[in-house]
Amino acid sequence: MISVTNLVKEYRTASRDVRALDGVTLTVPAGEIHGIIGHSGAGKSTLVRCLAGLDRPTSGDITINDANLTTATAKDLRSARRRIGLVFQHANLFDARTVLDNVAYPQEIAGVKKSERRARAAELLELVGLGDATQVYPSQLSGGMRQRVGIARALAVNPDVLLFDEPTSALDPRTTDEILDLITHLRRPDLAMIVITHEMHVIKRICDSVSLLERGQIVESGSLTDVVSTL
Ligand code: ADP
Ligand code: ADP
Repeated sequence: MISVTNLVKEYRTASRDVRALDGVTLTVPAGEIHGIIGHSGAGKSTLVRCLAGLDRPTSGDITINDANLTTATAKDLRSARRRIGLVFQHANLFDARTVLDNVAYPQEIAGVKKSERRARAAELLELVGLGDATQVYPSQLSGGMRQRVGIARALAVNPDVLLFDEPTSALDPRTTDEILDLITHLRRPDLAMIVITHEMHVIKRICDSVSLLERGQIVESGSLTDVVSTL
């Protein structure tokens, strides 16, 4: 499970200070898909960056199972980061590597030996429906297929939390449906999933619970039916 307590992130610029996150508290139990929805400027990207360990919050805590990301040393943060798989809006694949090597990459960083990481990557590509495309390059794939590769890569280190940042915003409606089906297929008792989006239909289709982010604060949070009925 992942829990976030009183998370604050301030950006200091020459002209003014911006409080992009202003006391965000939320808990996502393992096994659940939690949606975070908000308009542009609400703080979604900032929250993703903090959750993924790419940016340090100004104050507050992020805990994954027993590991506190915010108090971790730089070295511990690197290993804590492996507990979170991140899926980007545009997949962000390495164009010069095959699909298989893209998915094997996180384990290469983690020092897993080549045969083992390739076997794992092949298994994950099978899982996302790309078992036949291991040797192609990302440029040969459609947007939806690239996103499948991005999802497989995020799963490579067996994360406790899978974080989706606008996973379908760049996709057409049919491909969106396919990717949302895939996300629900990944549901497991030991995995907490967070989907950050500005699209309500994504939330309605796959999430168990929802938080509504406005101006850096969570203004509503609860089960899908409770929150959606108030909007
Ligand atoms: P969203 O992803 O929901 O559109 P962001 O997290 O990008 O929201 O932005 C939240 C607020 O923080 C906005 O007011 C934005 O202008 C501000 N902000 C984001 N990044 C920076 C930055 N690097 N420096 C200054 N202000 C920033
Ligand atoms: P399917 O239900 O499609 O047959 P499996 O559950 O058998 O898929 O999983 C196939 C492989 O993918 C296994 O090695 C499993 O560990 C891995 N896998 C499946 N789902 C996840 C997940 N959510 N996170 C990490 N690994 C996963």
